[in-house]
Amino acid sequence: MATLTGKLTSAACLLILSACASSMHAQEPSAAAAPTPAQIRIYKHSAWSDVPPKGVDCHGVRQNLNTTNYTKLTLDDLTVTLLKAEPGAPGADEKAPVIDKARLKLSKGEATEERDVNEGEAFNWNGYHIAIPAIYQKKGELGYPSTVVEAATVESLPERVANATKADGPADRLRVKHTINKLTLHHSATPHKEGDVLATKLKNQQLWGEKDRNWFDVPYHFFIDLDGSVYQARDYKYAGDTNTAYDTRGHFLINCFGNYEEAEPNEKQLATIANLMAWGAMENKIEPIEIFGHKDLAQTGCPGKNLYKYIEDGSLKKRVEDIVKSGKKPEIVWLDDLKSK
Ligand SMILES: [Zn+2]
Repeated sequence: MATLTGKLTSAACLLILSACASSMHAQEPSAAAAPTPAQIRIYKHSAWSDVPPKGVDCHGVRQNLNTTNYTKLTLDDLTVTLLKAEPGAPGADEKAPVIDKARLKLSKGEATEERDVNEGEAFNWNGYHIAIPAIYQKKGELGYPSTVVEAATVESLPERVANATKADGPADRLRVKHTINKLTLHHSATPHKEGDVLATKLKNQQLWGEKDRNWFDVPYHFFIDLDGSVYQARDYKYAGDTNTAYDTRGHFLINCFGNYEEAEPNEKQLATIANLMAWGAMENKIEPIEIFGHKDLAQTGCPGKNLYKYIEDGSLKKRVEDIVKSGKKPEIVWLDDLKSK
């Protein structure tokens, strides 16, 4: 994994989407479709990956906490505060994993407790199941200085997860339901040129995310290729993931694949971003329309200056608003097979 991880380390924004959302009905592509309303051709998750998304539905939340600006998460009457996080000490066996540690403060009404936890632990407290899937306390590592904390009500989880004393892998990660109210743009921060096969890159990213980041699926909701075609990623009804510190709930996450700190996006990509954002805004009844770049939310250069300029100058927002005002909701065409490209 070393090479792949290295390549992806620069994609500090990594967040994704998957199974077909219930409100998005599969349709056969129509060659005769009129240019208005705009048509968005989307390859289903299952078209580019034979690995289905993992994770469990729940009433829960997942946050990357740190001890400076994202110190706590709340779920109903539960508050979990990160008091301290520190790198684990290497043992005598150099091959053994180094387990980072954290101290949490748990509060629910009058009940309160401070608790030391190790990376990878899970436990139940006052009706809640709390898991620590990862702690990134080694300076310079992807995710530093986050402690990833998940909390869900015990009753909302399958028994296997509710009783677990380990956070374990992607199959046990929480799928956090959310209501979309913002539109957010990312890039992959990796080079992507004519002739590169995006499907292969996405599949690698999914597998890397499972193994290296303990994510149940790719972290964004949609990817956009150079030709303007769209790849469905994590189901947008679930919040995305990130290696940075911001609350991904509410964000409709679009990743324009490539490095737009260096490359320039083309018109097909920009048109697709606008159409997809307009569709997302109309489908989720977002009012007023708010468009963010990842860098507006966290410490990152994402989505790169050459993409961000369209957010900064308001032109992307105007484009999206013009489509929404026209009332012509873009039409989604779901594609089952990459061969239909
Ligand atoms: Zn990003």
